Amino acid sequence: MTYQLTEKLQNLVPYQPIAGEYSVRLDANESFISLPEEIRQEIGQAITQTAFNRYPDPYAVELCQRFGQFFQVKPDLVVAANGSDELLFLLTTCFAKAGDRLLVTEPDFSMYRIYGQMAGLEVEVYAKDNDLLLDAEQFIAYAQAKQVDMVIFSNPCNPTSQLTPRADVLKIVETLDCLVVVDEAYMDFSQGSVLDMVEQYDNLMVLKTFSKAFGMAAVRLGFAIANPVLTKALKAAKSPYNVNTMSQIAGSVLLGHPDYLRQCIADIKESRDDLYKAIKGLKREKADLYTVYPPHGNFIYVEVEDSAKIYKDAAEKGIAIRLMGKHLRIAAGSNKENRRIYQVLQESLQ
Ligand SMILES: *Cc1c(COP(=O)(O)O)cnc(C)c1O
Repeated sequence: MTYQLTEKLQNLVPYQPIAGEYSVRLDANESFISLPEEIRQEIGQAITQTAFNRYPDPYAVELCQRFGQFFQVKPDLVVAANGSDELLFLLTTCFAKAGDRLLVTEPDFSMYRIYGQMAGLEVEVYAKDNDLLLDAEQFIAYAQAKQVDMVIFSNPCNPTSQLTPRADVLKIVETLDCLVVVDEAYMDFSQGSVLDMVEQYDNLMVLKTFSKAFGMAAVRLGFAIANPVLTKALKAAKSPYNVNTMSQIAGSVLLGHPDYLRQCIADIKESRDDLYKAIKGLKREKADLYTVYPPHGNFIYVEVEDSAKIYKDAAEKGIAIRLMGKHLRIAAGSNKENRRIYQVLQESLQ
């Protein structure tokens, strides 16, 4: 009896989150704010009441209602999932057929490609220019030339922290005759969401996550927002009990504290701006610091002379950041954490 791995699995390079012990984690763009005790208690108490012998609510009705309230969208247009990752998997698998062309940009979130390849899609890559901005006209022309069947990109972009203006995103959606998935995982830190436009288009889907601004990476909650036709199809395609009851409760309780959430977003933005200003200040004295991109997410993207060395120097001090070729991606942390990574940059850059 033998089994040979499929070709796509043999060639699969897995996404590799950092393993090991770090006292400061600035590598995964998580929120640095830990959940306050009162909200923990509230979640804990609600979870104690769970009917553990019963399956979860398949459509997470209460959670989607509260989500809709917070983001000013109709709850009927919201689909909850086990992280946006589940949605990306479903979209590439079910909203395209094997052999279809998926267009992604470079640099962008690497999971788009991985899920596309797993779904048997041909992945076309639009390479951004040196400024790392997404030029809508060029992008549209490229998509049309390649006759792509689906487009996915993040806005603001992970890892570049750059924003594509709303008008440009809408132009892409309006012009292309294919599904356009706009991953707004970091839009809470910026402005230019197209969430309010989902009903205007046949082909727009917006993704949101609780893993970043909402500080809930542990519970794995992602959301898709789209018109009723797409929403209905997505609900039909997902596994029936995709979001477990504990996560539904945690998400619902959290959304019951909208002022707290808005404060978190403000605090994270402030930390991001502080860190950006500090790092940008280093440019005057450090020739090795080539570019510090103005951030629109909760993280700073920099180009340096020797990224691997900085990464290693940070790791030796117990600080995890993300190494991406000649660039580094550094999430905004607490004041203390920001000072520590700043110190590493100050000491290691020439
Ligand atoms: C972090 C991130 C997500 C979040 O995925 P989850 O599965 O919801 O944690 C989605 N898209 C992008 C671009 C991200 O950076």
